[in-house]
This record gives sequence, C-alpha cells and structure tokens, in this order.
Amino acid sequence: MGQVSNERLLEQTETVKEMIQTCIQCGTCTASCPNNEFMDITPRHMWRLLLTDHADAVFSSKSFIMCSSCYYCTLRCPRGLELTHAMSLLKQAASKLKLKQFQRSSLFYEAFLDSVKKHGRVREMEFMTNYFISMKNPVIPFAYASLGLKLMAKGKVRPEFPFGGKGKLTALFKKVAELEG
Ligand code: SF4
Ligand code: SF4
Repeated sequence: MGQVSNERLLEQTETVKEMIQTCIQCGTCTASCPNNEFMDITPRHMWRLLLTDHADAVFSSKSFIMCSSCYYCTLRCPRGLELTHAMSLLKQAASKLKLKQFQRSSLFYEAFLDSVKKHGRVREMEFMTNYFISMKNPVIPFAYASLGLKLMAKGKVRPEFPFGGKGKLTALFKKVAELEG
C-alpha cells in the first residue's frame, strides 16, 4: 500500500486475525451492517482478506473507518466473534501507523475525545475549532461555515467559549490507557 510494507501491516493485525479465526464467511455481518453501502469492501470480505494475510488490501480500503460501532454484527455473528472490537483495533492500527488516508479521521477522533476528556461531554465549538487547527488547512472551516450557522440558528450548537475545562475525565482516560497497556 505504498507508505507501509505488508509485513508491518500484518504485525498490526495479528490480534484481529486471531479474533476472527473461526469466521465461516456466512455474510451475516455484512447483511446486518447499516453502513455497508458506504464501504468499498464488505465486512465479510474484509475478514477473509485478513485471514489470508492481505492486510494491505484492508488498509487500502476505508471500510473499517466507516464502522460506527453499532454492534449489530457482533450481536448477530453466529460464531460470537467480537467484530466491533476488531473494527476498533483496525482504526487504532491505522492511527498508530499514521497512514495518510486516515489522518483526517484520526485528528477528528482525537479532537472529539480531547473535548470529552476535559468537559465530560463534547463541546461542539471547541471540538470543531481544535479539529480545524489540527488540520492546518485554513480553507476547511469555510466548507463547514454554513452548516455551523444553520445548527446555531436551530439551537443545536451553542456558541460557547472554546477551551478551558477541568479535565473531568482525565483520570478515567488515564486508567483505561493503563489497562490497555
Ligand atoms: S457473521 Fe461472523 S462468521 Fe459470518 S462472515 Fe461475519 S464474522 Fe464471519
Ligand atoms: S459495528 Fe460497525 S461493522 Fe458492525 S454492523 Fe455496526 S457499523 Fe457495521
């Protein structure tokens, strides 16, 4: 996939491969997934690619990034596989490897969690401001400006002072990071 060798990608997907060893390729996960139509390869196909060591094909697609962690596939998989967790591990691997095509998703996720960590909930203004700053692209905010104004007019987004916060969930996040190693 260009930036990173398949061997390095395989290292990062070892745990996921272990988790899906007993997949029988029934396709229930694909049929259950509400985001399937936005994925370039289906969940069932993705598991097959990982089982046959084609991690490069998986990371060339954006399927796992489209996963919204709804847990339908996990609940319905006849083999009881933890597919939502597997999707999360793939997202984490893409972030860790700093793959260029996932940079935007990673920055969005980090800005979102940073706001939750500080306030105990997401503060939209701060979250989006930090996201735009991290993107280092002055044009991007303009693309969201009309949507932001519409949401404010409907009272869906409050004009709060960005930044500040007491780090309400910092200890919790730290503990989870410790537990996850
Ligand atoms: S539902 Fe489970 S067993 Fe069926 S294809 Fe998906 S992962 Fe494999
Ligand atoms: S958890 Fe993700 S992959 Fe599974 S059904 Fe929901 S959106 Fe699809």
